[in-house]
Amino acid sequence: MLQSKYNHAMVVSLIANGFFMSEIDDTFTPLVRASSSALDSILGKKFPVLDDIGFLRCVDYMGTDDSIVQAARVSYGDGTKTPSDDETLIRYLVRHQHTTPLEMCVIKFHVKLPIFVARQWVRHRMSSMNEYSARYSVMKEEFYIPEVSEICVQSVDNKQGRGDVLESGAAICHGAMRDCSVNAFALYEDLLTYDVSREQARIILPLNTYTEFYWKIDLHNLFHFLKLRADSHAQYEIRMYAEVMLEIIKDWVPMAYGAFKDYVQDAETFSGPALALLKRLIHSEIDIITQEKSGLGKREYSDLMKVLG
Ligand SMILES: Cc1cc2nc3c(=O)[nH]c(=O)nc-3n(C[C@H](O)[C@H](O)[C@H](O)COP(=O)(O)OP(=O)(O)OC[C@H]3O[C@@H](n4cnc5c(N)ncnc54)[C@H](O)[C@@H]3O)c2cc1C
Repeated sequence: MLQSKYNHAMVVSLIANGFFMSEIDDTFTPLVRASSSALDSILGKKFPVLDDIGFLRCVDYMGTDDSIVQAARVSYGDGTKTPSDDETLIRYLVRHQHTTPLEMCVIKFHVKLPIFVARQWVRHRMSSMNEYSARYSVMKEEFYIPEVSEICVQSVDNKQGRGDVLESGAAICHGAMRDCSVNAFALYEDLLTYDVSREQARIILPLNTYTEFYWKIDLHNLFHFLKLRADSHAQYEIRMYAEVMLEIIKDWVPMAYGAFKDYVQDAETFSGPALALLKRLIHSEIDIITQEKSGLGKREYSDLMKVLG
């Protein structure tokens, strides 16, 4: 279209005068580069997690609540622009799972964490990661051992989780875990002394060895991560990292965080049969509805009753 309307000399002159900027997109309102003073004030600050080795820190970010609103208004037009309308718009987006505007916000963390936590973390593929190389560098003797008071028995009702605190023998188990890690690192050092390559020597190190990585993710996928990993079903150790992140997100994008909390984190979804049961419960059939009469399986019935308190 430009070629048919303008010759070369005219195009050069018009570009120099900024003409096309206004002609091509005269609705564009530039944001002063979006920044969050709350996040700026903690950039690079280490937040300890688990023990005095693990940490998480924000190293960089792009966008704020304003960036979400700016992107969304491409879909919905200018509308009104007061702060409360911005918040309403963001809440509408999150409530209706119109999540692409959230992808305009990106955050980068530096995380130091035990390998068994990293194994869970890397399952979240919609992110970018660069990890410490134990082929290139020697692993430091840094490992995570739960406090004696945090060693728990196997859960009886959740095959994938822990139950109550181990009442007898916790200190012995704690000591055995520590000895095992210390011995593994002693062997690792020996292997290096024998000039075994670092990439082979490292294979005997335990899963509680600390690693570290840079991790970059957009806000939509971070909320997905936090929904799963700040949840009570997530393993305690990864949950501790997720909880620190939640505190950071709360300051960075307070409106989006509030919407996430209300419509995702604290929300529940119900299956069709569960919803039908809920309707019967609301209509005062509560005394007669047992699991057998409910039409739900045992697990779904029990999960629903937990949600209802
Ligand atoms: C409590 C808990 C227990 C778990 N237990 C196990 C376990 O025992 N074993 C195990 O292996 N994993 C386990 N996981 C990991 C889980 O199965 C997911 O891999 C992990 O939570 C990442 O979720 P995601 O794939 O949605 O996230 P991401 O990988 O970040 O993906 C985000 C979204 O992108 C889309 N997407 C990404 N990749 C693809 C793809 N290849 N094809 C189609 N869509 C894609 C999906 O919509 C996905 O939800 C567990 C997770 C939790 C929270």
